[in-house]
Amino acid sequence: MTPTELRGLIRTVPDFPEPGIQFRDITTLIAHGEGFRAAVGHLAKAAQQSGAEAIAGMEARGFIFGAAVAVELGIGFIPVRKPGKLPVPTIGIDYALEYGTDRLEIDPDAIRPGQRISIVDDLIATGGTAVAATRLLRKVGAVVSSAHFVIDLPDLGGATQLREQGVRVDALID
Ligand code: AMP
Repeated sequence: MTPTELRGLIRTVPDFPEPGIQFRDITTLIAHGEGFRAAVGHLAKAAQQSGAEAIAGMEARGFIFGAAVAVELGIGFIPVRKPGKLPVPTIGIDYALEYGTDRLEIDPDAIRPGQRISIVDDLIATGGTAVAATRLLRKVGAVVSSAHFVIDLPDLGGATQLREQGVRVDALID
């Protein structure tokens, strides 16, 4: 399936989680076997072209696509977790949300210094999450070579923010 065909499998839910937000819901895409496999295939091809040696995915929807891409390429998967979830000492980063802050954590032992890592997530909006994940991975010595998304919301400028950090960015669907 082409990215244009995949677009038709994504459901838009208005006013979720709050009024005015058009929520792009990938539940319908991943429930479609052929569509899910095609989306993972496109992401994996792009990550492979960037020389990915491991995939990092953000909790929770980044786990769905990121783990599948890692399996497809036969490389490791690094979960970028919400705070307090990992049972070992972690390295974390706090980042700003529209209201308040959030935090991402990883197990530093999961990464080898100099390892080329590609980030995978379902969607990039403002880029806050992906920029924070990039900084966190770099803090532990990874080389963040690229980031791959199913959906980019270009009006929110996240991909531009991430490119300014020196990360190659692509998305299947704008
Ligand atoms: P951001 O940090 O602003 O780039 O937001 C990215 C994260 O928020 C992604 O992991 C998405 O899963 C989620 N997200 C933000 N905006 C939307 C949206 N309109 N529809 C679905 N998910 C969204």
